[in-house]
Amino acid sequence: MRELIFLGPPGSGKGTQAARMAQIMKIPHISTGEILRDHVSRQTALGQQAKTYMDMGDLVPDQLILDMVTHRLSEPDAETGWILDGFPRNVSQAQFVQEHLLSVEQKNGRIPERDHVWVINLEVPDDVILQRLLLRGREDDREETILHRLQVYREQTAPLIEFYSSRNQLHHINGDRPMEEVTDSLKEVINS
Ligand code: ADP
Repeated sequence: MRELIFLGPPGSGKGTQAARMAQIMKIPHISTGEILRDHVSRQTALGQQAKTYMDMGDLVPDQLILDMVTHRLSEPDAETGWILDGFPRNVSQAQFVQEHLLSVEQKNGRIPERDHVWVINLEVPDDVILQRLLLRGREDDREETILHRLQVYREQTAPLIEFYSSRNQLHHINGDRPMEEVTDSLKEVINS
């Protein structure tokens, strides 16, 4: 199993880099934001409940997210590993990942030389984020919502930096560089 987790604020390039690394590592790219947007566009029960939170830039409640992620991680393509983009986003989601990893380990046995979890903190300054997201112009990319998402990130997601760094799993990558350079740094991390 090879598992890669992207932390980092909205607009840090998690989605772009996760997609590139998924191709390189031949494991699925799992973006909770994308799965949620798909539910919203299909107007499923989950999508209808999640939309209010997404429009405001708040986190969708864990009780909705955790079932969705459990389901996705149980699909066959996730057996050899996965890249998580936008999850975990708070401490209880991070605890869920730890438990999931533990249960996979108990089932398969972990081979230390072959199995690895990398957590990437993609760092980008706030002013760059604001510019990038305003240019992207997704429905939740209005200035007011972006600033709120940044605040939610600081309050709920940034504590995961300490969570993973105390477990010696964290790698800091400067995301304020051309896409290819960021990918090269990520390749170095997974190959070192
Ligand atoms: P960004 O990282 O640019 O904010 P995402 O696509 O990751 O974009 O997320 C968009 C929205 O989807 C978030 O603002 C939030 O409402 C919801 N969302 C995505 N992932 C999660 C999650 N793990 N927990 C709760 N809400 C989530």
